[in-house]
Amino acid sequence: MQAPSLGGVQVPRGNGKTVVRLRHGSSLNDFADKIDANPASLVTVLFHLGEMATATQSLDEDTFGSLAAELGYVIEMVSAEEEDRELLGAFDIDLEAEEAGESDEDLVARPPVVTVMGHVDHGKTKLLDAIRSTDVVAGEAGGITQHIGAYQVVKEHEGVERPITFIDTPGHEAFTAMRARGAQVTDIAILVVAADDGVMPQTIEALNHAQAAGVPIVVAVNKVDKEGSNPAKIRQQLTEYNLVAEEYGGDTMFVDVSAKQGLGIDQLLEAVLLTADAALDLRANPDKDARGVAIEANLDKGRGAVATVLVQSGTLHVGDAIVAGTAYGRVRAMFDEHGGPVAEAGPSRPVQVLGLASVPSAGDTLIVAPEERTARQIAEKREAAERAALLAKRRKRISLEDFTQALAQGKVETLNLVIKGDVSGAVEALEDALLKIDVGDEVELRVIHRGVGAITQNDVNLATVDSAIIIGFNVKFAERVEELADREGVDVRFYSVIYQAIDDVEAALKGMLKPEYEEAQLGTAEVREIFRSSKFGNIAGSIVRSGEIRRNTKARVLRGGKLVADNLTIESLKRFKDDATEVREGYECGIGLGSYNDLQVEDIIETFEMREKPRS
Ligand code: GDP
Repeated sequence: MQAPSLGGVQVPRGNGKTVVRLRHGSSLNDFADKIDANPASLVTVLFHLGEMATATQSLDEDTFGSLAAELGYVIEMVSAEEEDRELLGAFDIDLEAEEAGESDEDLVARPPVVTVMGHVDHGKTKLLDAIRSTDVVAGEAGGITQHIGAYQVVKEHEGVERPITFIDTPGHEAFTAMRARGAQVTDIAILVVAADDGVMPQTIEALNHAQAAGVPIVVAVNKVDKEGSNPAKIRQQLTEYNLVAEEYGGDTMFVDVSAKQGLGIDQLLEAVLLTADAALDLRANPDKDARGVAIEANLDKGRGAVATVLVQSGTLHVGDAIVAGTAYGRVRAMFDEHGGPVAEAGPSRPVQVLGLASVPSAGDTLIVAPEERTARQIAEKREAAERAALLAKRRKRISLEDFTQALAQGKVETLNLVIKGDVSGAVEALEDALLKIDVGDEVELRVIHRGVGAITQNDVNLATVDSAIIIGFNVKFAERVEELADREGVDVRFYSVIYQAIDDVEAALKGMLKPEYEEAQLGTAEVREIFRSSKFGNIAGSIVRSGEIRRNTKARVLRGGKLVADNLTIESLKRFKDDATEVREGYECGIGLGSYNDLQVEDIIETFEMREKPRS
């Protein structure tokens, strides 16, 4: 139904109950898409409602709300997760229904997945090494365990050999980053506390994160080999944080270990299994298409995209069509942490997967699709959605008022960036850090594209169109791309240290800021006598009282301390009969102020210049 609207524009109207679902960060373009309207007419309608926005600018829920109400629609904001669920639904993939439909018979016990957290230097890395080296399989394989992001060890428990999966990136940052992406991979957290140091800020942070995620904690009291270590004190300290040791009547297991000497590792693994059995029901259906999470990914020169995937349910096979985030492909080969080939991987099993066409991000969910074509379509749809969300999110948000105002004053400047790096983690870290640079509201930083791998023709083309700078972190140009960048005049900068990249961008941002000027006084002169000249206008015979008087500088006139004329210029300056460029304090001179002829004796001529204010 078409009806005249505000501003006389035609916009298809809703009936007051018509629901329009929009993703967070949507723009008028997106809204227009959904109701089949012309974006420009929505801009007009919104304008008549007293708000100014461009068609591509991302708007908040309230703004959409009032616009929708005006046009007879009801807005429902959809989160990225919901949207993705809908997207998968369109391909008949419903992960929630799938899980809900699983009966007890379908479910088989799976190994716990453990993350090691704790304060810096308390021994997380050492402990992960110590646990890894207890692994008999690694010994048998004769191979050293490789770092692929996760590994499994087998522990004999009550006569049964039970695997335990460890996430090989210590610390709660990775844990939290994955959770933020909706991926919960950790079942149990090992909280490492050095017995010679005690509970520290990151200890508390780590346990807060674990508790917030509802993940049970096993405490590893480390460095008990050290003189002066006090394991009892750790138990005491942690009671304050609701971690009460079993021996004190609580339900948290504390194990004294020395990661360095390999002491207590077996007991620690035992405690992990006991805690898992007591607190968790770790079961999954292995007989279905695999569902999992990418926990690490990088681009390998010879092998292409390499992703370590933790299978969470189902079983992953070589040959499966997969999609992880916006990456898709077919599993070409899988390897375990010993570098050995794997044909299939069941629940809680980490494997390195080859065959993805691009590099997924850590925390991306991985699913097996019925066929490769479906995988590709899902990936492409996700990429489009992500690009839209990225545009909205990466734009450093300023309020509508600020934006309009800044726009009106011509103050908006944008620095567009393309970020390429060798691993997705580095790209994300760099991007986050860059977007945190605070340069005030006058400059916008936008990351228009980012990805893993060499700098390609596509990157340069993008940079050309959007006048972006390309930042390469531990990557090079792809073949023949350097010439293209040269030709197009695209600025490409290479870094191997994140901070250098940040420093440079920060400096660039400051350079782009419109300079601020401040007045700097140059000198003053007192008028002693007025000479009339038909040729030059009046000349003020003066004596320089302070600083110096320079030709062509700005001047004003003060009389009895009051300003009588401003915006003048020292148009002529003479020492006796000769032209002078400057006359210093204590000397006499003749000053001509152009057409300003109302000078009087005893007036003060003050000169100044505008200097650019340095930015802090
Ligand atoms: P992270 O920052 O928590 O990963 O700590 P690291 O594993 O890097 O260990 C920090 C330092 O503590 C290193 O110098 C380790 O050698 C040392 N360390 C770790 N575990 C032990 C231990 O059980 N005993 C002793 N004496 N030193 C340890």
